[in-house]
Parts: sequence; C-alpha cells; structure tokens
Amino acid sequence: MLITLKQAATKIQAANKILLTAHIIPDGDAVGSTLAMLQILRSIGKSAQIFIDDTVRENLHALPHFDEIRRPVKGETFDADLLLILDTSPDRIGNVRNLTDAPILNVDHHVTNSGEGYELYVEPDAAATCEIVYKLARELGAEISLDAAKCIYAGMATDTGFFQYSNTGADTLRIASELVTCGVRPNEIAEQMERKSVAEVRDMTKALQSARIFLGGKVAGIFLTRADSTEGFIDLIRVIDGVDVAFMINDKAENFCRVSMRSKGTDVATIANSLGGGGHIRAAGCTLKTSLDEATKILVAAIGKALHVDNLSDAGTPLSEID
Ligand code: AMP
Ligand code: MN
Ligand code: MN
Repeated sequence: MLITLKQAATKIQAANKILLTAHIIPDGDAVGSTLAMLQILRSIGKSAQIFIDDTVRENLHALPHFDEIRRPVKGETFDADLLLILDTSPDRIGNVRNLTDAPILNVDHHVTNSGEGYELYVEPDAAATCEIVYKLARELGAEISLDAAKCIYAGMATDTGFFQYSNTGADTLRIASELVTCGVRPNEIAEQMERKSVAEVRDMTKALQSARIFLGGKVAGIFLTRADSTEGFIDLIRVIDGVDVAFMINDKAENFCRVSMRSKGTDVATIANSLGGGGHIRAAGCTLKTSLDEATKILVAAIGKALHVDNLSDAGTPLSEID
C-alpha cells in the first residue's frame, strides 16, 4: 500500500525499537541511507539497529558508524516493533526477513517497487533513497549531524554517478548543497567512494578487453567471471558513441549471472523486470540463473526486442574488430 512521507514519519514516531535494513549486494545508497537513518532515529530518542545480509564493499567501511552494521546469523531473532526497509522492496533483504515479525515500513526510490502487501513510501523521482532520508529527517524534526550528512551525501553521490546521471535533479543538488553547508567535503567522500584495490583495477582491464558491440552499435556489453566487485565498470562502455544500452554480466557462480544495465534513453527497468529483476528507467539489473553464454543470448534478445531490432541472435563484435 502506498503512503505519504508524512504517514511514513508518523509510523516512525509511533515506533520505539526499529530494525533497519537495505538490499543485498549493498551499494552506497543502501549503506548510506541505513547509516544516516540510524543516527537520525537515535537523535529523536529511538532505539535502532542495522542488519544487512551481505558483505559490504571495502570503500563503504569508512562511513561513520559502519562498524555497527550486523549480518544476521542463522536462526537469530531480533526484538523490534518496526522493520524499516530502505532502497529496495522487501524481497531483496535476504535473511533479515526472518529476524522479526514486526510490521514493515518501506522507503524507496525504485519505480519497480509496487508496495503490494506492505506500506511503502516511494519517490521514483528521487535520485537516491538518501535524498528521501533527508526529507524524512526534516519531516521528523530531527537534526542532521555531520556524520549523518556524510552518509546521506555518499548515497546521493554514488547513485547519481557523482551528480552526472539523468536522475540528478534540482532537489538533489539543493540537498547536496545543504549537506556541504553542514560540513561535508565532496572531495573527501569522492576519494573514499572511488577507491579501488589493485585486484579491482585488474578486473576492470579484463572487463574492457571483453567488451563487445551488439545490434548495430546501439548496445555494448562486458563480461566477467567471478568478479567480487564491479562498481563503476559498466561506465567504461556506457560512454561509447552511439551506444544506448550498456550491460555487464558477472558470472558470480555456476549458473548464477548478475546483470547490470544502463541506458541513455531506453527503459531498462522494464527489460530487467521482464527478466525477474528491477531498478530505474536508466539503471536496472537482474539475476539470470544460467550460464554466461545463455544469459548473454537471453539479455541481448530482450534488449533487442525493446529496441525493435530484428537481429535478436547477434553474438556481438569485439572492439578490436570495429573501425
Ligand atoms: P546495479 O546495476 O547493480 O547498480 O543496479 C542498478 C539498479 O537496479 C539498482 O537500483 C538496483 O537496485 C536495481 N537492481 C539490480 N539488480 C536487481 C535485481 N536482481 N532485482 C531488482 N532490482 C535490481
Ligand atoms: Mn541501491
Ligand atoms: Mn538507491
């Protein structure tokens, strides 16, 4: 059921012990929004704890209060009177779902989140869930500390590709400006968020070498096997002249391929949704439980259909073979 920001704030005010969570394969917005919310809730006298059922990418560990995030262990329960789910619908929170029977309050910015069977405040035009967390804090009359501001800024920066993507709106920049006024240093957050290990940069070069162009140059793809972290890799091919849809397939385990898509115009949320995933119009993803080759065929056919291109069985051309 869809609710308003005011109703979401009222639900939070009525609760005392709040379990916070976000999606598995957590990104800057998932971690930033839960960490900011933790601090905001405590500042208005609530008890709060974050559980995320996954490991978190190394460069998010520097965010304030990161050490307080817990991962649920098998059979564990947690006493809470509200389960506040950020940056995803309730189906992508792993075993956190089994920690409590408390009612769900879902706050999200994914257009594919339906709100069926739980209370949802969704703002598809918000660049990041962190942007909504900022508005919620204002609605709750809570102070935003410098530490909370850093977390909100980090989530907004990562979900907008540092204020470059089409989701960057006037509200995004206004809120970012207010966070900088609070004392956030954009260069410090950017350095933390962009840091990569040698292994990640090595995987990045492999990703570029694997690049192939499909469907008459409108689509580009990169292919990885068992890569741990692929943050930003898809941007390497998103920029290619004439490419509308960029995709990345990471063969994470046998018959388990993680798919990411970015577009300059085409609605990739609908494509991802048709393959069991979700996301935003210009940034979406899904998981295909099949081999890398089969996943590529399925994905190129689905993208081709959306682009109304005839050659749906295009096997792609490596960059080296293109003039
Ligand atoms: P990513 O490519 O992993 O950065 O994801 C892009 C967007 O699509 C994010 O907003 C994700 O939350 C969403 N997304 C990615 N994978 C899935 C999935 N399997 N199910 C639903 N949404 C997804
Ligand atoms: Mn996210
Ligand atoms: Mn997000």
